[in-house]
Amino acid sequence: MIRAYQLSELAAELGGRLNGQNLSVSGISIDSRSVQSGELFIAIKGPNFDGHAYVDKAIESGAAAVLVQEQPVNPDSFSYILVDDTSEALGQLGAFNRHQTDIPFLAITGSCGKTSVKEMLAAILDQEGSTLATHGNLNNAFGVPLTLFSVEAGNQFAVIELGTSSPGEIGYISELTRPDVSVITNAAETHLDGLVDVAGVAQEKGFILDSLSPSGTAILNLDDDFFNDWQQRTLSGSEQRRVRSFSLNNSQADSYGSDIETTTEGMRFTLNLNGQKRTLRIAFWGQHQVQNACCAAVAASAAGIGLDKIVQGLENARPYQRRGQRFALDDRTLVIDETYNANPKATLAAVDQLAECEGHRIMVLGDMLDLGAVSQQRHHDVGAYARDRGIETFIALGDASRQAVSAYGRDGRHFETKASLVSGLRSLLSELDVPAVTVLVKGSRGMGMLDIVRSLVGSD
Ligand code: ATP
Ligand code: MG
Repeated sequence: MIRAYQLSELAAELGGRLNGQNLSVSGISIDSRSVQSGELFIAIKGPNFDGHAYVDKAIESGAAAVLVQEQPVNPDSFSYILVDDTSEALGQLGAFNRHQTDIPFLAITGSCGKTSVKEMLAAILDQEGSTLATHGNLNNAFGVPLTLFSVEAGNQFAVIELGTSSPGEIGYISELTRPDVSVITNAAETHLDGLVDVAGVAQEKGFILDSLSPSGTAILNLDDDFFNDWQQRTLSGSEQRRVRSFSLNNSQADSYGSDIETTTEGMRFTLNLNGQKRTLRIAFWGQHQVQNACCAAVAASAAGIGLDKIVQGLENARPYQRRGQRFALDDRTLVIDETYNANPKATLAAVDQLAECEGHRIMVLGDMLDLGAVSQQRHHDVGAYARDRGIETFIALGDASRQAVSAYGRDGRHFETKASLVSGLRSLLSELDVPAVTVLVKGSRGMGMLDIVRSLVGSD
């Protein structure tokens, strides 16, 4: 059950002023379109929007009261709490609700794989007890406090995804979360406009370790160049902390895969966890997802879950939309939807995934954005890697991807528009006289490569 709070209690917690009746609220919302009856509507003021304009609408939609940083126009018609800064208050409320419970909080950051690991971990923990996990990808400075506030009295575990797009964000949301288990999936070149280079990314992700409980466990990637830095950072905070490691296939790690195979239903592999082993199949494709599964397994074991439930949970878990979902276009053509987002590490992993597929392999690449000065080189690397891995056809969209096409060489093709790309791809598919074809579509979210998958398979 969602906890109910008196407005006076929340006002005292926030150092704000309550005006009007002291009602009880359960739940918070920052969106007047989806606010639920009995919730507290928080009017957030951003550079391009102002929630104060929607206060009346929120009340009409059933909000019990509002939290504002500006005096409402009609202050006598509903209860409200006035604070100096509603964004800060949102964070405080998330942390306040988080501290009403002593269940284990497992937080996940990293450049790629957070949502995948979160889905796997939540599926595992759910075997043991009611688990609250970040909904979708609500991993930023608004999404994390909203998630923390949604932790209910009956929950036995909480899994929180922590994302970043600018320096300082992970530190802030980690501090609100105060994890008992902190997971870093990896560091890769993302958001380089703010974080400069991969060392800057690793440093930023490491803030999740600074907020780890003094007796908590850090789950770190032994395959990552920054493993030692993160380990040191964890242990320098408290000697009681522990570090547990995962890897794709390094037997030095506490959790790693062996006998890894790609099957039509997903990856099959042996999970080696704390000296025990078990063979299983996950409904995810690509070696990177095996690494994510090993990560989720060791994180779950740090939360006290045994191997049987870990295996069962991993087998039950399903990929979140656009992270490698597969669609049969016809009886010989498979389309892999990797359009959720792209950075160099994820795109190389996508090439590997495609290289393990059947028949004639077609890579469709849209630009990887936000790479600053290394953009040309990284696009070049992807084209060259696709050629080395034997991908038969390479098709691209976007200015930066021209570099990838020229590095791929041979008959790589570049298109100016999505429509021309789709029609070029369709005619190629109709001309190909082969028993099996696999098309993988990848690109940064800003490139909207999902439109291409939709045109091909009509999915949403
Ligand atoms: P975001 O920062 O956008 O929330 P995320 O970290 O939650 O992303 P996922 O949504 O799990 O990551 O995966 C996004 C994409 O990243 C996948 O489609 C895949 O291409 C790639 N990816 C996932 N896990 C890994 C990994 N361990 N190594 C490399 N690439 C990965
Ligand atoms: Mg995510």
